[in-house]
Amino acid sequence: MAVPFRKTSKTRKNKRRTHFKLRVPGMVECPECGEMKLSHRVCKECGAYKGRDVVEK
Ligand SMILES: [Zn+2]
Repeated sequence: MAVPFRKTSKTRKNKRRTHFKLRVPGMVECPECGEMKLSHRVCKECGAYKGRDVVEK
């Protein structure tokens, strides 16, 4: 098996991982209840979208 000639430096490793994200993007705070929700989706906590309730509870 081929082995890398040089050790990968911390800088190089970290640069490679700049695309690694801890969480799924597109999360925004709900203006109604303040919970984190996916943008352009109805809030699952309060069922609000575009400033009005669209889901009955
Ligand atoms: Zn909400």
